[in-house]
Parts: sequence; structure tokens; C-alpha cells
Amino acid sequence: MWDVARGLVEQMDLIVPTPQGLYCPAGDFHIDPAAPVARAIITHGHGDHARPGSREYWGTDVGFGLLRERLGISAKIHKLRYGEILQFGAAKVSLHPAGHVLGSAQVRIEVDGEVWVVSGDYKREPDPSCAPFEPQKCDVFITESTFALPVYRWPDPSIVAREIFDWWQQCKVDGVCAMLCCYSLGKAQRILAELKIHTDEMVYLHGAMTRLVKLYRDAGVLMLPTDVVTNQPKNFDWKGRLVLAPPGASGTPWVKRFRPLSIGFASGWMRVRGSRRRQAYDRGFVLSDHADWPSLLRTIEETGAKRVLAMHGHTDALVLHLRERGIDAAPLELHHGASPGALNAATEAAAEIAAEAGALDHMSNNASGSTMDQHSELDFSED
Ligand SMILES: [Zn+2]
Ligand SMILES: [Zn+2]
Repeated sequence: MWDVARGLVEQMDLIVPTPQGLYCPAGDFHIDPAAPVARAIITHGHGDHARPGSREYWGTDVGFGLLRERLGISAKIHKLRYGEILQFGAAKVSLHPAGHVLGSAQVRIEVDGEVWVVSGDYKREPDPSCAPFEPQKCDVFITESTFALPVYRWPDPSIVAREIFDWWQQCKVDGVCAMLCCYSLGKAQRILAELKIHTDEMVYLHGAMTRLVKLYRDAGVLMLPTDVVTNQPKNFDWKGRLVLAPPGASGTPWVKRFRPLSIGFASGWMRVRGSRRRQAYDRGFVLSDHADWPSLLRTIEETGAKRVLAMHGHTDALVLHLRERGIDAAPLELHHGASPGALNAATEAAAEIAAEAGALDHMSNNASGSTMDQHSELDFSED
């Protein structure tokens, strides 16, 4: 009898999906909950991971400013150093760098010697604006799969940064403003940090980005000097200037002041040729804060996990691929929190459709550059 009971206990998953999101029964906490809960561990400050309303939060000290920004002044947020161990019931919990945005973390959970790791969002390319991903050995790895199709392979980000710089310089020659659309949290700061090896010139920001850029500066991230677009005089000459704006700002009256201009977009979605999103811009730069296909496979191998659960995006393609290689893999279905453009499909054609759906979602949710849209822009910070 005892053995039977013990067997049942041993088979219990350390993390289970619930309507509120990922839940750890042994430690009685949720990870990135979609609805208010008692204890929430937050992997990073993007809007689909850090949501207000829970009683208590735990996140990295490095990402504290971003969490405060997302969760509000009254939220009770506990700071954890990377690697610091927290005991919740029977569970030892620690956060480890995910390389996604400032302060982003994987969550490592250990109960009776069994280790599960929840990746959160992550990437493996170098990024001067956040700590690099640190692979964690584990029995079960819960991985994101936003870009889990073989078509997604990112170029060297330093080469992409050079392309952005060259485009900006060409805009000077052509006498036009260079407006680069990129997500306000993570991508904008990464670009400002990447460009620093090429220039010290001032970059102008959409108002939705200024507080987030300041939070990165406060955390010690070295970036190009910035000023706000609206701080400039009416007759300011925008020719040859680089302006960073959220994707939703293009196609709004806000951009009129920059004309003539060239509009670029930096995103992993730029990897999908012929997508509506790509066509809406003069230049596309492939720069993503999520793992590409080779990085997903490499990371899964490095964890040594015998079992892999895939969430967000192209879970089916990744699960099929892993099963063919003898890994016990399954999609982890959550009821909430799917990212825009996240359709499960195993074909490149479906990836195009997914990207287009994401682009359309984005446009319809960001019709103007108003303050309201700053929030919806943050909510669509997945690229
Ligand atoms: Zn994210
Ligand atoms: Zn995400």
C-alpha cells in the first residue's frame, strides 16, 4: 500500500497547467499567471508574463524596475538574485538568466531531487542589454516554442546591427529620416546597446519607450544617448536622424513630422518572406529575442532533459521533431496567455499565416500613438 501511494506521489508532475497558468502543487505557486493568484513567480516584464492583481510576486532583482512598471506601485514584489534558492513548501526554487530581456529568468524547481525547469522566453544569441542564457540540467524542461520551425534561423546579431547602422547612414545620404519600428521593451534597448560600437550619435524615441529605456540605463546597460521626439522644436530637421518607435506607430499621424522617411522593422517575423508585416516596411531586419530553431534544439540537448513540454507558438512542430529523436515530448496547453500570431502548425506556409495574423492583430490594436496604445504595445511585446 505504502509503495503504491509513494509511486503515485513520485509520478506527480512538479508543474501542471491550470486556468491561471503554470502551477507547482508542491510549492503552491504559479509561474507567470494569467489571472490573479496568491504567489506568482514572474519570468520577465513582458505583458503576457507579468500581470497585475496577484497577492505576492517574486522576480529577479535586475528586472525589478520592469516588474514595478508592469505590476504597479502597490504590488508586493520580492527580489531574487540569479541562483538564490527559495524554499516554497517542498520545492526549492531559483531563477537563472534566460537571455531574453533585462532581468529575464528561467525558473528551476527541485523537489526530492527531481528538477524541472520552466524556460520562460529565451534566446541564445549575444545581447549587450541582458545576461546570457545559462543552461540548467534538469529532468523535465518546459520550453517556449514561439519560433519553433526550421525556417527560423537568426543571423548574427552583430551583422544585423551593422545593417541597421548602414541603413541609417544611407538615410543621411538620401536626406530622409530613419524610423525603426521595434518593440518597446527589450528590442529598442538591445538596438541602442548594439549600435554603441558604431556611433555615439543621439537617437530619438517615441514616448512609449522613454521610461523603459531609463529603466535599462538605471540597471547599468550602456546605450546610445536618447531624447524624446516630442522634446524637439517644431522646425527640427529630421533628415538623417534615427527614430525608434513601437510597430503600432507606423501608419499613424505621429510619423508625418519625419517625412521624407524610410521605415524599418526589427523583428524575428522579418524572417518570413512575403508576409504582410514585412511588406508594410521599407526595410526588415531579422532580430529576435526568442530562440530560433537550432537554438531550441541545442538548448533542449544541453538541459539533458528526458522529457520536454513545449508551450507558446509552434509547439506541434517541435514536439514531432523531438519525438522522432526519442525524447518524451508533448505540447503544454494553457488556456490563457497565447502570444499573437501563435498558431500551432508544422509547415512554413502556416508560419506565414501566423506572422500575418500577428501583424494584423498588432495593427488593429495599435491604431494610434496614444498613451493607451503604449500599454497595448507592451502587451504585444512578443517577437
Ligand atoms: Zn517575452
Ligand atoms: Zn512571452
